[in-house]
Amino acid sequence: MGYQSRAAVLREYGGEVSIETIEVDEPADNEVLVRTAACGVCHSDLHFKQGAMPHFPVPTVMGHEAAGVVEKVGKAVRGIEAGDHVVVCNTIYCGTCQQCLVGRPHLCLDRMGPAARRPKGAPPRLKGEGGKLIPFTDLGGFSELMLLPERAVVKIDKDIPLDRAALIGCAVLTGVGAALNTAQIKPGGRVAVFGCGGIGASIIQGARIAGAREIFAVDIMESKLEQAKSFGATDVIDSSKADPVATIREKCGGVDYAFDAVGNTHLLCQCFSSLGPRGTAVLVGAIPAGQKVEIEARGFLGEKSITGSLMGSNRFKLDVPFYLDLYRQGRLDLDSMISARRPLDQLNEAFKDMEGGAALRTVITF
Ligand SMILES: [Zn+2]
Ligand SMILES: [Zn+2]
Repeated sequence: MGYQSRAAVLREYGGEVSIETIEVDEPADNEVLVRTAACGVCHSDLHFKQGAMPHFPVPTVMGHEAAGVVEKVGKAVRGIEAGDHVVVCNTIYCGTCQQCLVGRPHLCLDRMGPAARRPKGAPPRLKGEGGKLIPFTDLGGFSELMLLPERAVVKIDKDIPLDRAALIGCAVLTGVGAALNTAQIKPGGRVAVFGCGGIGASIIQGARIAGAREIFAVDIMESKLEQAKSFGATDVIDSSKADPVATIREKCGGVDYAFDAVGNTHLLCQCFSSLGPRGTAVLVGAIPAGQKVEIEARGFLGEKSITGSLMGSNRFKLDVPFYLDLYRQGRLDLDSMISARRPLDQLNEAFKDMEGGAALRTVITF
């Protein structure tokens, strides 16, 4: 037995997604079947679609920033049942490796764990024309139904609108987490955020929540800089008109934390050059594999450092309910992060909006 679901399938890199009816298997013992309510369109989806992430094979059911309602759970699943509202997250963890045990499940060494491994020759979980389909990052959120490991979902309260909740699963977890968990911004800290899309807006909010004193927002789009102010930026710099490094150094001598929210070698260098003596540059976006980053040394490096931030160093089963509390209290603005809502049929248009640079976050609603 199985289920039918309309889903967005990418069959070749660089192509358009096609909306197809696919077959979804019954949940195995440690899986949950979720009826998708909303799924955000993230830059990673676009990068994958363009062929910049060849380690994820095609054909693929796309999407990874989703929320929905549990339809059915496998026999061994505890604590989640049909009717529960959930946010999904691609930080799937085993729970038993060294990184999981020290409290860093986002760096899990055996991501899916033994529970998720299927016997050889078992039928594919998702099927379409031509056979097996692969869910993007093991989620596949642009589909009416998602078949997920139980360690990819967290139950949330039912009062939160699911289109807003969906954003938590990637953009907010990544951005707010980079500020609060990875960088651990201290009250009074000075912050610069390079790139003010969905992730950048989340970092700015995280910096505001952490009590940052100054938050410089850097982008080349006027509209994004305007929005950055509403999210908490204290200074905005249009880097198509002014040198952000010189502006930041002139205003405060250098920041304590600088974030590259895009994943761009030039921006990462600018982040590093914007730092004060003990500042930290945090790479939040993904720089395409093989590219080299050149850092200007200026003699000593002082005590500056560069770190990566993977999915906001999240422990999503704790972080998602926390961030939703911040939303409820009016301290985390999710409402303004959604720039458009579109049905699944318009996913290709949503990607075009993103390529044009205007969209903060388009959410596909079901
Ligand atoms: Zn994402
Ligand atoms: Zn693990």
